[in-house]
Order: sequence, then structure tokens, then C-alpha cells
Amino acid sequence: PASLFTAIEMAPRDPILGITDAFNADQNPNKINLGVGVYYDDNGKVPLLECVRKAEAQLMEKAAPRTYLPIDGLAAYDKAVQALVFGADSAIVQEKRAVTAQAIGGTGALKLGADFLKRFSPDSQIWISDPSWENHRALFESAGFVVNSYPYFDAATHGVNFAGMLQALNAMPTGAIVVLHACCHNPTGADLNDAQWKQVIEVVTQRGLIPFLDMAYQGFADGIEEDGRVVRHFADAGGPLFVSNSFSKSFSLYGERVGALSIVAASTEEAARVLSQLKRVIRTNYSNPPDHGGQIVATVLATPELRKLWEDELAAMRVRIREMRQLMVEKLKANAPAQDFSFVKQQVGMFSYSGLTKAQVERLRDEFSIYAVDTGRICVAALNSRNIDKVVAAVAQVI
Ligand code: PLP
Repeated sequence: PASLFTAIEMAPRDPILGITDAFNADQNPNKINLGVGVYYDDNGKVPLLECVRKAEAQLMEKAAPRTYLPIDGLAAYDKAVQALVFGADSAIVQEKRAVTAQAIGGTGALKLGADFLKRFSPDSQIWISDPSWENHRALFESAGFVVNSYPYFDAATHGVNFAGMLQALNAMPTGAIVVLHACCHNPTGADLNDAQWKQVIEVVTQRGLIPFLDMAYQGFADGIEEDGRVVRHFADAGGPLFVSNSFSKSFSLYGERVGALSIVAASTEEAARVLSQLKRVIRTNYSNPPDHGGQIVATVLATPELRKLWEDELAAMRVRIREMRQLMVEKLKANAPAQDFSFVKQQVGMFSYSGLTKAQVERLRDEFSIYAVDTGRICVAALNSRNIDKVVAAVAQVI
């Protein structure tokens, strides 16, 4: 007999996780997975940062009871996040115009923001970059929004189609919600420069658009402070402003699900009302966030010695990725001089839109057991001193 589930169709496979499944099933001992969105160290391992290990040791020592956290998370965590995202001496923080709630990773922060916006700006539509992080569209659609895209990547230059982007922003209706990658654009690795950001902020402000900055890679482009600059410029422009941030990558704490949503309001009083409503969104979703990851990050950020350690460890990740970009460009120049890959050095963050076609990506997989995303996205943070020659040799074969 037919049941509730009889007519349910199989959902499509997640494209990125599908690559990992295929990679895991591959018997080739020399297989290489560049399809992931995770930072690996030079040994091909996901690092456990020393600052995290030390913070965890302190927490173990304390052996605190596991009570519920407040709905908006640990106060010390939220405070530390605000200082990190907006700057410790930021007027917005001093004036208590920003509210921050601990969230279940960057994804959870985006979903909180989306649910909040759906409640208070139900007729707005969303605009995401073309292309964007593969979950942005589905996430905002699942919150009930119509999701559109604005031009972003220019395949010809391997950089940003800034004219196209600006034109699209100028055509958006007042109240449109624009999702922007604060730094280290995923999947392309192509970021705006300072002058371009300035123009974007001008248009967003003039047209009354609602900016939603997604910052999943703070510290992976130029530095913690430097990468936060875009958020500060937006915040200076007034508000409303939504900022989701994630510590998955910058603390290598993927599975602990640590992120936050910050909202900038026009006054202290407005911020208090916003926070009260944000708490309702949280309360009816998952009541309050988990403890452990937030404790780790709050401990590291508030302990000078651990914070210094974190800054150094994050810098080492950033520098290693840059070295891999540099090496890849040099080695491809030597192995495949006909094609110019120097753009890989201009791109930032964990990813590169390599310019490889779907057919070339398939050949890399079928002939060399090297896995990338069909769009040509490779994770530069999965390259290391031992696999880079194999990758370069294979790329030289397929192009
Ligand atoms: N936003 C962007 C642009 C991302 O690349 C990611 C993760 O890959 C996220 C959000 C989600 O972060 P988290 O894993 O902390 O949920």
C-alpha cells in the first residue's frame, strides 16, 4: 500500500560530496583530491591547531558543567567575534549598534540571517554572485526567498567582471538583499580590490540595498585585520548590515560548527530590538548553540598567548597556500608554456577557478585519479610539496 514515503524521489547528490565519494572509492594509491573545501597541511592532513589543543587542555582542566548556553551563545564568544569582525576599537561595537549571535558554523549564521530577513523583509529578493558557494542558493531558497544572481566571474580574465557586477547592482530594486563574499571568494578565488569595494558600497548605500557579507575565510587572503576591512567599510556606511562569519577554516574546527551572525543597526535601541527578534529565530530553530567550539574560540581569542599562537598558525596556512599558488604557476610555466596560468597567483584564499574545462577535469580524474570540481575549481590548500609535481604534470597532459 502507498505510504507517505512511496512517492518521494531520491534527492540529487551534493556535487562536492559526490567527488569525495568517488575519490574514496578510487583504488589508485596516488590519487589526489583537489575537490574539497578544506585546508590540508603539507603532509596532506587536516591540522589540529596548537592554539586549539592548548585551549582544549585548559577547558578539560576546568571541567566546567555543561549547562545550556544563552540563546545567542556565549557572551565572551560574541564579544570576541565582534572585535574580530568589526575591529576592537570600532565605533559600532563601542556604541552597541552591532548584535552578534553564536551560530552553528557559517552555514547556520547564513540561515539565521535568512530566516530573520524573511520575517522582516518578506518581499525582498536575494542576489548572489555568479558563481557562488554552492549552498547559497539552496539555503536562501529554503528560507522562502527568490534567489537571483549578479555577474561576478570573468572567464576571459580569470578575475571579476566588475562592470557587469556594478551594472547589476545599479538595476536592483530598493530592499534587495545582496550576498557578497567579504574575502577569498568561493569558488573562484577572485576578489574585488579596494577601489571596487568602495564603488560597491556607494551603490549599495545609494540604492538602499541590504548587504549580507559572508566571511568564511578571514585571514586567508592578506591577514586577519586586512581581510576584515571590507566589513568595516560597510559598517561605516551605516547599516543595516548582515555579516556571517565562520571559524571552520581559520581555526580548522570544521566539525565543531563555530560561526556567528552579526547585524549592524542604526542605534543602540534598534540593535536591542533586533537582537530580541534574532533570539526568537534561534529559539524556534535549535534553542541555543553548542558549547565546546565556542569555548575554544573564545578562550583562544581572549588569551593573549593563545591568540598570538593562532595568528601565527593562521599566517602559516595563508603563506603555505600562497607558496602553492606560486609553485603551481612556476611549474606550469615550465611544463605547459603555451598557456598562461599566472592568474592563479592573483587569486586568493583556498580556491582557484583554474580555467580547466569539464572535459579536462574528467580526464584528470579518469587518467590520473586527480579529483577537481567540474567547474574547474581546485582547492589550492590541498596541494602540497609531494603532490604538486603530479598535479602539474597531469594538467600539462590534459590541456
Ligand atoms: N560561506 C562560504 C563562502 C563558504 O565557503 C563556506 C564553507 O565552505 C560556508 C559559508 C560555510 O561555512 P561552515 O562550514 O562554517 O558552515
